[in-house]
Amino acid sequence: SKDSGRGRSSFYDPRMDDERELRNQLELDLRAAIQAGEISVVYQPIVDAHSFDLVSVEALARWTRRGHGPVSPDVFIPIAEASGLIDRLGLCVLEMALRQLQRWPGVRLSVNISPGQFRDPAFVERVEALFVDANIEPYRVTLEMTETYFIQNAERAKAALDRLRKIGVKIALDDFGVGFSSVGYLRQFGFDRMKIDRSLIQALSEGHRAIEMLQATVALARSLNIPVTAEGVETEQQAVILRLAGCDQLQGYLFGRPSVPADIDAYRARSMLPR
Ligand code: C2E
Ligand code: CA
Ligand code: CA
Ligand code: CA
Repeated sequence: SKDSGRGRSSFYDPRMDDERELRNQLELDLRAAIQAGEISVVYQPIVDAHSFDLVSVEALARWTRRGHGPVSPDVFIPIAEASGLIDRLGLCVLEMALRQLQRWPGVRLSVNISPGQFRDPAFVERVEALFVDANIEPYRVTLEMTETYFIQNAERAKAALDRLRKIGVKIALDDFGVGFSSVGYLRQFGFDRMKIDRSLIQALSEGHRAIEMLQATVALARSLNIPVTAEGVETEQQAVILRLAGCDQLQGYLFGRPSVPADIDAYRARSMLPR
């Protein structure tokens, strides 16, 4: 009965039920949205640190929930990861982005991959098939991954990365500088690129210590021949510090927000102008 149920959990908190309810509803809606093809992809410019020319774009998933409005990826990606929807969602994003890339010769692409996607034993084959279908040279594409996966399953992660590398794609370590990320990972897994997290760039305004730490981090990566992208660049001053520190690519609102393909077309046209 209701009473005995309540008696068992002495910490009954109706707000917990509300939260669970909300999450379940979000998950159901997300599942439906993926099935209906309602997930879209926006692209954020990544520029050369010296010329500010467009060199690459990062694909970022977007979801406008019916009857509610846009939901942040920081909300729906974790739900997708926890519910197994990430496989389908991740491959959808990659497929759409590769098709878009056909229209941007000379541009490179970054796509985020969640650790959970490696649970699918056919993941690497599926990725490879998408490249074949879209007729995109794999070296143009970088898959971005955070360190969590590498901490949890070092051996398996290394094997998975090696199989991906055989296809010819590049692998970047995303969000470097948050959590436990250490330069040790860079060496151990042989990443092709490192992306410094926005929080480190934001800290730059706090003074010399932050600048010195960032300089040391970039220098270490470069001593391992790993190029460094800075993300979340919002001011000219940050851009100058980061370029001088040795970052070869910059990404952030200063250069462009994640945007629809037409905006990237325009950015590309500007970048190709002779100087
Ligand atoms: P991320 O991979 O670190 O992506 C960069 C995030 O920083 C994006 O947030 C981007 O809009 C934001 N950003 C870029 N420049 C600036 C800046 O100058 N200032 C500020 N304040 N923010 C900036 P977004 O699009 O909300 O995505 C959040 C996270 O969701 C991503 O972080 C990534 O971890 C995840 N995500 C997004 N799309 C996908 C996807 O297709 N697959 C997977 N697995 N994860 C995704
Ligand atoms: Ca990323
Ligand atoms: Ca990042
Ligand atoms: Ca992030």
